Amino acid sequence: MTVNKELLKYIESLEHTLSRDRQYFHTYPEVGWTEVRTAAVVMERLTSLGFDVKYGKSVIAASERMGLPTEAVLKEHFERTLMTSGIPEASLTPFKDGFTGVVGSINFGEGPIIGLRFDMDALKLTESNEEKHQPSKNGFISVHEGIMHACGHDGHTAIGLAVADVLSHFKDTFKYGGVKLIFQPAEEGVRGAKSMVASGVLDDVTHVFACHLMADIPYGKIICGTNGFMATSKMDVIFTGKPSHAGASPDQGKNALLAACTATLNLHAIPRHHKGASRINVGTLNAGTDRNVIADKAVLKIETRGENTEINDYMRQHAQRIIDSSAVMYGVASEVTFVGEAIGGYSDEIMIDHIEDIAKQLTCFSEIERTSSRAAGSEDFSYMMKAVQDRGGKAAYFSIGAAVDAKGRGHHTTMFDINESAMTDSVKVFASIVTRLLSDKK
Ligand SMILES: [Zn+2]
Repeated sequence: MTVNKELLKYIESLEHTLSRDRQYFHTYPEVGWTEVRTAAVVMERLTSLGFDVKYGKSVIAASERMGLPTEAVLKEHFERTLMTSGIPEASLTPFKDGFTGVVGSINFGEGPIIGLRFDMDALKLTESNEEKHQPSKNGFISVHEGIMHACGHDGHTAIGLAVADVLSHFKDTFKYGGVKLIFQPAEEGVRGAKSMVASGVLDDVTHVFACHLMADIPYGKIICGTNGFMATSKMDVIFTGKPSHAGASPDQGKNALLAACTATLNLHAIPRHHKGASRINVGTLNAGTDRNVIADKAVLKIETRGENTEINDYMRQHAQRIIDSSAVMYGVASEVTFVGEAIGGYSDEIMIDHIEDIAKQLTCFSEIERTSSRAAGSEDFSYMMKAVQDRGGKAAYFSIGAAVDAKGRGHHTTMFDINESAMTDSVKVFASIVTRLLSDKK
């Protein structure tokens, strides 16, 4: 089965729309669980394209959301969107209070259901306003101070909408099966996917795919199956002691700062696991109130990672033991809150075969790598992969090079930018996967 030439031609005609959509999302970035404007735009577009659209509480299980911002932050962002977006209140309300997911389904008949996942969230960074930074130069720099699309999820959302357009336009060419477009909140910090899986969105999905635009990989390159996801746990740790006068009665206090420091040093001393790569990082330590007071409170933000779920579990359990013991040592209390989590994940060989074959047939890729060996970050798409694979389904995650120049840009940096042409290529791959899996009735 070859790729559909007519379909590819149509995708090329969407280049301008892709760019316009990406630049719109780039201008109005929203961090995890506050993607109210983005989700509303996605919902309206999918509806207008004839999709059966579910959103808000019907696609997000409230209890499985991780790392939710405070109520005040959610409210403030919602109010701002209501006041400034020009989007009707009725379209925004379903996404209030951290329910910012959208799923659009299109059915052609009996058969497999292909799930395609697109993440929508931005990061807490202030975008560079340097002249050489394209979004600044071309007038689509973030208008939200301290928030920026610095991982390409603006591009992912635009890609999802273009795929929707293609499927709607060519719906009569598909004879069986269906496609679910899954727009996910809060991928950053691996906080969102679990709640969508728990809502049952993936229950009837037989194949699931996702793609990442990579600003640090040359444009024209595709990695057909990414396998290096690390399992990870993100934790907030609070040590609570007792304040006292540092001169008059130091013995009366319970020192939370010292417990946190002891924990920090020992967390970094957890022995490495012999079975594979592991990581730990204490990213922040905030403690105490003043120079002459025994610190009664200390807060750590930490994360563990492992090459697979087993190794991360090992790191997490040791971390917990060290935190508990450090608290005991100084007579303080400790509390650990999990604010994000992802398991390991792998792409199925047979799906990598399909993507590799598609990539070879498309003319847009000059370099095709089958699987990536480089150490990846973590991705909560792994929950969606596992949900589908556990039921005998298949999954794959591919990466597309989107560097703007020879040097490329680092992800999660203030000068992050993508080569927009990579979005068109990504749509081609997604559409070709659907064509291939839903054309030959087996
Ligand atoms: Zn990302």
